[in-house]
Amino acid sequence: MVYCQGCPWRCRYCHNPHLLPRRAAGGIAWSEVLEFLRRRRGLLDAVVFSGGEPTAQPGLDRAMREARALGYRIGLHSAGIYPRRFAEVLPLVDWVGFDVKAPFDATYERVTGVRASGAAALESGRRLLASGVDYEFRTTWHAGFLSTAELERLTQNLHELGVRRYALQEFRARGCLAFRPEGNAVAADLDALARRFPQFCVRRA
Ligand code: SF4
Repeated sequence: MVYCQGCPWRCRYCHNPHLLPRRAAGGIAWSEVLEFLRRRRGLLDAVVFSGGEPTAQPGLDRAMREARALGYRIGLHSAGIYPRRFAEVLPLVDWVGFDVKAPFDATYERVTGVRASGAAALESGRRLLASGVDYEFRTTWHAGFLSTAELERLTQNLHELGVRRYALQEFRARGCLAFRPEGNAVAADLDALARRFPQFCVRRA
């Protein structure tokens, strides 16, 4: 897993807040990562670019090409923040873990703290589905930041888009600075949600 620095969104439940600033001390140069990958050829199968938001990196496509040239399969974790850049790297990717925050209306802005974030995520989600690249849509959930009714709307949105693989991830407090939850994380009607997707799972914290 390669954790990329920088994300313009500010989800209250983010458990990697140290990765949000564009720059931070202690990073590892891509050339060092590449050298590590050279040494591990044949031992590791894939490189997953995560974050932060990997598509915030101008060098992401080059890094993916270089890792591919060493024989690695490529994974991407993204919230679809930059639809154009997201679409540009899709041909280089074998699998995407696509992070969906909320129904694609104003609720999205409430969760991310950023205007028009729902439109960006929707555009990227559409591009992912049209690309044919393997994927999993996933949502980190706790009723403290997204109500059960909002989760219902979100999963209905995804069903209508044609999403076939979806995971609901129970919010984990570890690493999160801005959200202190009370009560059960996942208390929705999971059977009803599951019926909207051919493949559905819940990941407990
Ligand atoms: S999009 Fe991801 S990395 Fe960015 S603030 Fe939200 S949870 Fe954190």
